[in-house]
Amino acid sequence: MNNEVILLKCSACDADLTKALTPITSSDAMENLCTFAEGEAVTPRGHVLLLDKDAIVKQGKMHRATIPANMAWVHLDDLAEAVGLTPITKRLAGCCDISGIDGPNRICACGAHVGTQFSDCYEYHTFQPDPKTTRWIGVRRSENTK
Ligand SMILES: [Zn+2]
Repeated sequence: MNNEVILLKCSACDADLTKALTPITSSDAMENLCTFAEGEAVTPRGHVLLLDKDAIVKQGKMHRATIPANMAWVHLDDLAEAVGLTPITKRLAGCCDISGIDGPNRICACGAHVGTQFSDCYEYHTFQPDPKTTRWIGVRRSENTK
C-alpha cells in the first residue's frame, strides 16, 4: 500500500484527470502533511488526502472539524492540463477567485463535470473530484514516469 500511487480517471471517457498521486490515508499523516488555512492549498503537490476513516482535524481554525473518509482533496496544480473550466459561468463566481459553492466547475476534455475547484480567498484551496463521474485507480510507482 505504501508503495502505491493513485490516479484519477474520468468515468465517461477514461482520461487521466490527475498526475499519479501519493495518498494520505491516516489522521497522523494528515496532521503532518496537510494545511487547513484560508487561501492555502490543503495538500502538498503530488499527494491526495483520501482518508481510510473519518478524522478530526486538530490544527488551526478547523479545530474539531471532521474530514470524512473517502472524500478526496487534490492540489489544484496536480490536475491534468486537459481538465478545463465549466461553461456554466455562474459556477465560476467567487470573491477573489472561484468559490466552488455553486456546483462542479471543472470538466474533462470529453465535457463531463468531474469535480469542484475551491480557490477563493476565504477557503482551503483544493480540488474535490465528483465520485459519481470519476474513479481512482492504483498504479505502480515504476509506471509513474510521465
Ligand atoms: Zn472524460
